[in-house]
Amino acid sequence: MKVYLNDQWLAQEDAKISVFDHGLLYGDGVFEGIRLYEGRVFKLEEHLDRLAHSAKTILLEYPWSKDYIKEAICETCRKNQLKNGYIRLVITRGTGNLGLNPRLCKNPQLIIIADNIQLYPESYYQSGLKIITAATRRINPAALPPMVKSLNYLNNILAKIEALNAGTMEALMLNDQGNVAECTGDNVFIVQNGSLITPHSSSGALQGITRAVIIEIAQDLEIPVIEGNLTRYDLWNADEFFLTGTAAEVIPVVELDGRFIGSGKPGTVTKRFLEKFKEQVSKEGVLI
Ligand code: PMP
Repeated sequence: MKVYLNDQWLAQEDAKISVFDHGLLYGDGVFEGIRLYEGRVFKLEEHLDRLAHSAKTILLEYPWSKDYIKEAICETCRKNQLKNGYIRLVITRGTGNLGLNPRLCKNPQLIIIADNIQLYPESYYQSGLKIITAATRRINPAALPPMVKSLNYLNNILAKIEALNAGTMEALMLNDQGNVAECTGDNVFIVQNGSLITPHSSSGALQGITRAVIIEIAQDLEIPVIEGNLTRYDLWNADEFFLTGTAAEVIPVVELDGRFIGSGKPGTVTKRFLEKFKEQVSKEGVLI
């Protein structure tokens, strides 16, 4: 595998950064997870915009233009002869000293890795996921805006550990008001009386790119979309429940905290969204 690192494509074992990089020492950096479908990079522009917003929020300035990063991503896919896969784009603050001061980090590092991915086994897309609510709350936006896709994922990792300890693969995270925020790596949707409801972005969730695609699909299907506050009560009593994410795509949830959602089987509206999503990714994207 060839990994892009600062203007070069290196063998995986040679792609190394300094142990003094603040990305490693402090989780100081930003990233994106992007999908390649049939030789096309899906929603590349949107991912690069979100990356720029994440970086701007943490005052991380980088010298690479959008076009430069686009070309580096496409070349990384070509060099690895990938047609389908997952692209991880990382920008770290760069090398500093052992103190926190980000101003000592003069050279941010750009890393691009392209590989295969399967987040959940295929059977879960047919039978649905069972998940739990984590006791770990989503970080307060006043502390660190969850809209920033930063290298500091410890909040999500703590909730993921709770999921794994409970024998599940994902966990629901509430915000500090007790409303639903998102899952550890996915956004949340429910179907209720024919409408689609998802937590408002101010609830403390990442502004998911797959989430935005689902909202567009709902508009095409003339399904009303409500962005609002959701509680666990709403999820327990939903007709259908599903998660969205670049890696997960669209995946049904059939059980939350040991309670069946709806009939306890993936619902028809969820299946329709999954189908439409697959259609969209097969025909759209930047050719590598
Ligand atoms: N929330 C979190 C915390 C995430 O890490 C992700 C991405 N894995 C998502 C939501 C989904 O966002 P996207 O659809 O842009 O991948």
